Amino acid sequence: MRFTLLLAVAVFSSCTLTQRRQTEQLVAATLISDSQEAQLGFQVHEALKQENTRFLENPDVGFYVGGLVSKLTPFADKDRGGVKWQYFVIDDPGTVNAFATPGGRLYVYTGLLLEAETEAEVVGVLGHEVGHVVARHSARQLVAAKGLETVTAMALGKDPNDVALLAATLIGKGSILAYGRDMELESDTLGARYANAAGYAPQGLASFFEKLKARGELPGFLTFLSTHPTNTERIAKLNEQIAANGYRSTELGAASLKAIQAKIPR
Ligand code: ZN
Repeated sequence: MRFTLLLAVAVFSSCTLTQRRQTEQLVAATLISDSQEAQLGFQVHEALKQENTRFLENPDVGFYVGGLVSKLTPFADKDRGGVKWQYFVIDDPGTVNAFATPGGRLYVYTGLLLEAETEAEVVGVLGHEVGHVVARHSARQLVAAKGLETVTAMALGKDPNDVALLAATLIGKGSILAYGRDMELESDTLGARYANAAGYAPQGLASFFEKLKARGELPGFLTFLSTHPTNTERIAKLNEQIAANGYRSTELGAASLKAIQAKIPR
């Protein structure tokens, strides 16, 4: 462990963006254990409950979302094993968003399920969120926000709850769930790959961005588009990736989504 940390500190001082990304990921994986991530995810969930977040209890909708998640996660598990994936549907038809928390909890708002036109679009968004978990973005965000030395000192401290406490303060300010451009693009790339591997048209996420862009809606911080990269850039990068890798999956699942949308309260 110490050797890895020293190596990480050495690399951290001068590096390209790619090197920094790799280093952050290494540091995050070294410093923040899977069980600490799971604890963070639990804390966020408790906070959501305290904020009176309404979770949709409809078993049909839950079963549907769970089915989509279970098509994606076998491919994600090849990149990062040991994640205990969980999913939640938030009953809020006015919010078009989804997010993931450390440890593998995925949250999707009913507003997003209602806004999507095809299942492939929902899968595109879920794949993106799965990507944030696989790439340990929340842990990396912690390192980026608090500084390597602070996180290292906490992680090597006597109290194993220190990192969780540190992270809880960040979650409180919302910063741990607000990722930068680099991480959003990385998650887009992972998500498109997982969607294609699961048999879905990998254009789903780009198509969803196009639709929101066409509607010209950029409401508050809770929307999926409120992250840093312009969606134009994200759409272009997704299309490049699909062409470069020869992704050919075609499933759209429009009819199955329509049937579920009819069961969602508006
Ligand atoms: Zn994201």
